[in-house]
Amino acid sequence: MLRSVNPATGEQIAVHEELSPTALERKLDLAASAFRRWRETSLQDRADLLGNIAYCFEENKDALARMASLEMGKTYRSANAEVEKSAAGFRVYAERGPDMLAPRMQPLTGGGTAETRWLPLGPVLAVMPWNFPYWQVVRFLAPAIMAGNVGLLKHASIVQGVAGLLEEMVLAAGAPEGLFQNLAIRSSAVAAIIADDRVAAVTLTGSEGAGKSVAEAAGRNLKKVVLELGGSDPFIVMPSADLDAAVKQAVTARIQNSGQSCICAKRMIVHADIYDAFLERFADGMRRVKAGDPFDEASDMGPLSSLEQRDTVLKQVEEAKALGATLLFGGEAPEGPGAFLSAGVLTDVPLDSPLMAEEIFGPIAMVFKAADLDDAIRIANDIPFGLGSSVWTRDEAEQEQFIRRIEAGMTAVNQMLASSPEAPFGGIKRSGHGRELGPYGMHEFMNLKTIMHP
Ligand code: NAP
Repeated sequence: MLRSVNPATGEQIAVHEELSPTALERKLDLAASAFRRWRETSLQDRADLLGNIAYCFEENKDALARMASLEMGKTYRSANAEVEKSAAGFRVYAERGPDMLAPRMQPLTGGGTAETRWLPLGPVLAVMPWNFPYWQVVRFLAPAIMAGNVGLLKHASIVQGVAGLLEEMVLAAGAPEGLFQNLAIRSSAVAAIIADDRVAAVTLTGSEGAGKSVAEAAGRNLKKVVLELGGSDPFIVMPSADLDAAVKQAVTARIQNSGQSCICAKRMIVHADIYDAFLERFADGMRRVKAGDPFDEASDMGPLSSLEQRDTVLKQVEEAKALGATLLFGGEAPEGPGAFLSAGVLTDVPLDSPLMAEEIFGPIAMVFKAADLDDAIRIANDIPFGLGSSVWTRDEAEQEQFIRRIEAGMTAVNQMLASSPEAPFGGIKRSGHGRELGPYGMHEFMNLKTIMHP
């Protein structure tokens, strides 16, 4: 049984039955047969389906957003924005997908021509997290449909209501049976599905631990794998930055989704000359953050996704204090039901502490003082992760230094980092490998066929 619990109240919403081995077997068969038909469809048919799915998302926006808020606690406002972004994502691949799949001809020095074509690969298993329960799936699904692949979803156990709605939307849009199926299974069932001959590849968005398990199973079976894992992104502020804008976005970048985004700015690294001014304003902004009912317009953030998730963050805050860090305020669990946690700020976290190798998945910021640009880059890179980064400086030479030297898959300049349907997304180091989105993301799960012509 997979339980959905409202993290704002602690009340059980629903219990979802796990798929039996026989039902799972049927779904894998269906995926294989659906792929044989879907790979033969025209790009126009695929684009039409994507457009219809976008329409279904928009038509059912309230129901979809409500389910996400209920199951994992994000504000209803942000859940609506996520559904809209998901619809936009389907449209982007409907419109731009054909260009991404255009064949190329290359004259060969020895005579003749090599043609390259992008062909589909087969059923792809997607293991997905709860934090952006629609958008994370769309990032994989929209390009997969355009590519001619079919999808199998193993969603996080706590968002099975969302997983069911996703499948419902795709079917309501007119997708053939088997094109996209939700598998209500536990993570312990994932390795056997990766090993199954009917599954061509696997993509995982989640924690480092899950990434290691999935990569191991994929490696053992020589299956292609893309891993989008955790991060502890730096947010670097230099003296020439627009301080008001930097402070405002630093707060948003840390507390978005109750601090539960892989690309939340988790470490503010501030030049010594403006450290005090930044810290004062940033702390003021973080103090004002209101955690409350996700359906209340006045709430800046809802609860964390579960009591377990909150316990993990509370433990990390205690660990930081024991290591000599200063908790300026926040990081407190209020009395009463719900997995609420107040936004908080930590300073003086020792750079050699084990906490630097962890991801704080909650609304707690760490602030560091950097002597100069080199020191800021040194602190930024001194972690095992390499997902995103945000740098604030008006100096173009400094911008260039950050772009070249920060060890991360993404750098945002004078803005907080956010994903976009068109821009490649992914990390290096222990944040994973491979990319989602854009042509690079679509091509990860395709067969680049070389055709030799005389
Ligand atoms: P998680 O615990 O790793 O779960 C993610 C998914 O993996 C869930 O479906 C989970 O299933 C499954 N899973 C867990 N352990 C597994 C295993 N050993 N084998 C196979 N599957 C396994 O992560 P989460 O707590 O849901 O999500 C938060 C994490 O995702 C954070 O680390 C965050 O940074 C990362 N994230 C990364 C990106 C990115 O693009 N780089 C984006 C968003 C989130 P169950 O729910 O059944 O355990």
